Amino acid sequence: MSRAGIPDPSHFPDPDPRFPFPHSPAPTRCQTEPATFDFSRGSGVSRDAREGQLARARRACSACPIVKDCLKWALVNKDLTKTGVFAATTPLQRTALRKRMADRLGPDWTDVLAERDRARRARVAAARHNPLTISQARIVRLDREINGPMPKTLTPAQRQRNMARLMAGLKAA
Ligand code: SF4
Repeated sequence: MSRAGIPDPSHFPDPDPRFPFPHSPAPTRCQTEPATFDFSRGSGVSRDAREGQLARARRACSACPIVKDCLKWALVNKDLTKTGVFAATTPLQRTALRKRMADRLGPDWTDVLAERDRARRARVAAARHNPLTISQARIVRLDREINGPMPKTLTPAQRQRNMARLMAGLKAA
């Protein structure tokens, strides 16, 4: 499926193999509703209608499961994203974001991003190939048994209490 006037990015040959278009578990809204993302019609469209369309496209992107990687892909692939909305951004916003990336990471910011991605993948692969040792797994299991499931945030007092319980459990084990 393609957006009217804008080729579907997932069907592009990837110009930079370090940044493939992200995989989506389900069809994205720009694939199922390409008209919402088509800003190629210049004349005959009122400003209000265009702003409404932009707001709809942005709302769709903000609920998209691959928005973060879509933005990175759109920023890196400048020539393929000259028009239209990608990851809730307009072409002008993407130009500003690219400039900000260059200010923060240097002129070779795409190389920096690629290296970060490579390092992250290597860490994930290493974690997969280096499972927890028996004693690490024992500590994790014991922590769950004693302290229960981990809440999102812990107060310092909760942290201290959990640690004390865990140490006591380790001594007793
Ligand atoms: S973030 Fe928006 S443009 Fe990117 S894949 Fe999702 S719906 Fe499409």
